[in-house]
Amino acid sequence: MVSRGTTQQSSAPYNRRIVLDVIRRQGRISRREIVELVSLSPQTVANITNDLQTIGLIVARRLKGARSRGQPPIAFELNPNAGNSIGISLERREVDIDTHDQRRVLEAVMRLIRDLRRRPAAAERLWGIGVALPGPLVKTDISFIGPTTLEGWSDLSVLDELRDTSRLQVFYSVDSVAAALGETLFGVARALDNFFYMHFGVGLGGTLVVNRSAYRGANGNATEIGHIPAVPGGKPCYCGNAGCLERYLSVQSLAEALGVSEAPDRDALIVAELERNTHAALQGWCLEAAARLRDAVCVIENMLDPLTIVIGGSAPKLLVERLVALAEPLHHSVRGGVASPGTRILLSEREEDSSILGAAVLPIYDLLSPRFEVLQQDRRAEADVAGLLGQRGTRRAGRL
Ligand SMILES: [Zn+2]
Repeated sequence: MVSRGTTQQSSAPYNRRIVLDVIRRQGRISRREIVELVSLSPQTVANITNDLQTIGLIVARRLKGARSRGQPPIAFELNPNAGNSIGISLERREVDIDTHDQRRVLEAVMRLIRDLRRRPAAAERLWGIGVALPGPLVKTDISFIGPTTLEGWSDLSVLDELRDTSRLQVFYSVDSVAAALGETLFGVARALDNFFYMHFGVGLGGTLVVNRSAYRGANGNATEIGHIPAVPGGKPCYCGNAGCLERYLSVQSLAEALGVSEAPDRDALIVAELERNTHAALQGWCLEAAARLRDAVCVIENMLDPLTIVIGGSAPKLLVERLVALAEPLHHSVRGGVASPGTRILLSEREEDSSILGAAVLPIYDLLSPRFEVLQQDRRAEADVAGLLGQRGTRRAGRL
């Protein structure tokens, strides 16, 4: 499945992204083959590949063998030395620094950047830093509340500080959106144009991917499934409501059930309990959580009719596998009888939380496509591309 180009005005970034995506997915591809796959004019494709070469994202190689008009044909590939970017997924206790303390986060990130720049094999260019944060990020009734909240991060001014200290461009996104992007580009959703992504971590989030882009809603807060009412009169939630899905289906909820929510080695304790699988509280929680998952899958399918629901995030794989198994048989829905057996839910195959990978892609992805809904930019992507095209010489000499 390949996205088609569009001839609408202001479509240049979109077309650039799909051409780059085709080159990435094909590995090596000629200009004529790109024209056929994306349905753009040869001239448009030529302009785009010239731009991408100038920016340094792709390289052209002459192919041996068949010649046209005396010249060997040219194929394009991604430039493996195009640069590095840094992806950071901030979730409480997810990394070995306490992300509640923004000063320590900044120090850790700066250490990371210094190490990366010191590496002999490091590419000359650092494209920027992508940060994935628990949503919703736009100020709402339910923003910056609960156990995933990062103290001192509520106005996101720390991102400005990160940009000023690192002298790199900083991009950010809701973690479930970044993770959906990671799965779309590198994960189980590589061949899927439309799917629902469920981000199962300390909290619970979701992203609907339509035509390989995240659907964001009116204010960028779409599909915040963790705070959908699931149990009438149920457990009180930090958002002020009761019975929210996240209070039953999240690592935080399990940690509370096991009495380890404040333990410093909480994640290790949870994994140890999962492996033992003898704790009555664990088994009771899993049955309840699986019932909530079964309902959630039915709601998502009947609302959105996605090809599949991909489940990823920082939750232990063992936990997610167990819940998905316990949720079977799934409820009847518009996907039942349509989807092949066993494909209504797919589990992320990535060892790490795919929001980290998605975050690392943000600096390049946004540069190429302002349509990807990164929430806030301090510059326009089109101006950036124009700048890169015009300043290739000076950019090569210095650091971004
Ligand atoms: Zn809630």
